[in-house]
Amino acid sequence: METREKIIIIGGGFAGLQLAKNLNKTKKKVIVIDKVNHHMFQPLFYQVASGRIEPSNISFPFRKIFQNSRNTFFRMTEVQKIVPTENKIITDAAEFHYDKLIIATGCKTNFFGNDKMENLTFGMKNTQEAISIRNHVLLTFEKLIIERGRSNEANWNIVIVGSGPTGVELAGAFAEMKAEILPRDYPNMNFSQLKIILISATEKPLSVMSNDSQDKSEKYLNDLGVQFLSGERVTDYDGEVVSMASGLQIPSKNVIWAAGVTGNIIDGLSAESVFKNRYKVDRHNRVIGCDNIFAIGDISYMETELYTTGHPQVANVAITQGKNLAKNLQKKPGQPWENYEYHDKGSMATIGKHRAVVDLPKLKFQGVFAWYFWMFLHLMLILSVRNKLAIFFNWMWSYLNKDSSLRLIIIPNKKNKTIQ
Ligand SMILES: Cc1cc2nc3c(=O)[nH]c(=O)nc-3n(C[C@H](O)[C@H](O)[C@H](O)COP(=O)(O)OP(=O)(O)OC[C@H]3O[C@@H](n4cnc5c(N)ncnc54)[C@H](O)[C@@H]3O)c2cc1C
Repeated sequence: METREKIIIIGGGFAGLQLAKNLNKTKKKVIVIDKVNHHMFQPLFYQVASGRIEPSNISFPFRKIFQNSRNTFFRMTEVQKIVPTENKIITDAAEFHYDKLIIATGCKTNFFGNDKMENLTFGMKNTQEAISIRNHVLLTFEKLIIERGRSNEANWNIVIVGSGPTGVELAGAFAEMKAEILPRDYPNMNFSQLKIILISATEKPLSVMSNDSQDKSEKYLNDLGVQFLSGERVTDYDGEVVSMASGLQIPSKNVIWAAGVTGNIIDGLSAESVFKNRYKVDRHNRVIGCDNIFAIGDISYMETELYTTGHPQVANVAITQGKNLAKNLQKKPGQPWENYEYHDKGSMATIGKHRAVVDLPKLKFQGVFAWYFWMFLHLMLILSVRNKLAIFFNWMWSYLNKDSSLRLIIIPNKKNKTIQ
């Protein structure tokens, strides 16, 4: 008969993984459930999408992470429903009972309920989607060299919707690809017609960053030849033409949607627990209306004195909420729990080689030093020495050769063999 407290964590992203690691080697039984078998380092998805690094460099199998753990177990399955009255969750594969449940399911791309947009554009919220973008863009280049001048204008335009860090970084990476890599891979082809177009609802890119960073990132995008369309709201896309509220239309068969995220809510909790598609939590990350259910990371919504409308959905919040909850869950009965608060450590984005913008709480800087700073910090955050070295090697190789050698088109065979 199991006597250990059983904690189930749904989601092994930044928040769930941090919590599981901090509960490792405690007397609790921890089960991490995720629909994929690996932790994903999302900030570098854009480098997978633009063929700079391999997906394996930023993906970390849970079984490897917990290989030596005696109290943490991993199950790969998608959670479909929470039944709080019975302390159980229902997944694709089985039902699991818990003493405490932690929801750390993060977000998915927000298509604002537009099914057409969802079906016809590319999101970039998991490794598979980043690989799909890479395949699609590389296939487009192959198509262009065959069709040449006959090719439809829609093939020549790569459109990215949304000018947050994801959109800006991706636009910069594609613009660099056009300038440095395509002339070498396709020496007899003129790619001057290829346009990288970044559509932004705001006047400036990176609207949540400082004015200096917004201005500088706009300049960097211009320097790289990215067409930045500001103050434009996309209203429709039919697979061939992107339409905007202003009436402007852009032909494109390559549209990447980076215009926002929404929470991965699971069925089962009452309406009072959910706010703006996130779980509403108290200062201990306990879901409102529940005793033994907590939510951490992007999926949680917590109002504090510093953040009266919830915390930003960034990796640092997820990691620190995971750490704080791990500490609280280990308190003895009667011991007071610590409130969570986020102390902003800053934000940054890179827009091609030698160009980055960094906003730290007391210092803002842009340019080459910011770029080195960005690289250093991301390398430090990547899990496992092997992956740090692999990424460092790839970056150095592209830095010295202005090239990376990873532009593989690998599309899974449609025949899906599974063990019955
Ligand atoms: C392209 C991109 C770039 C980003 N860049 C930055 C950056 O530069 N800096 C920064 O601070 N933040 C960045 N972010 C945001 C950052 O990645 C998130 O804030 C962070 O991942 C949130 O962590 P999380 O643990 O809450 O969720 P996630 O990391 O999203 O993890 C959620 C996990 O839950 C699993 N899951 C979801 N639903 C279910 C279910 N029903 N059943 C089982 N498993 C489920 C998923 O498979 C996933 O593993 C970026 C995000 C994206 C998409």
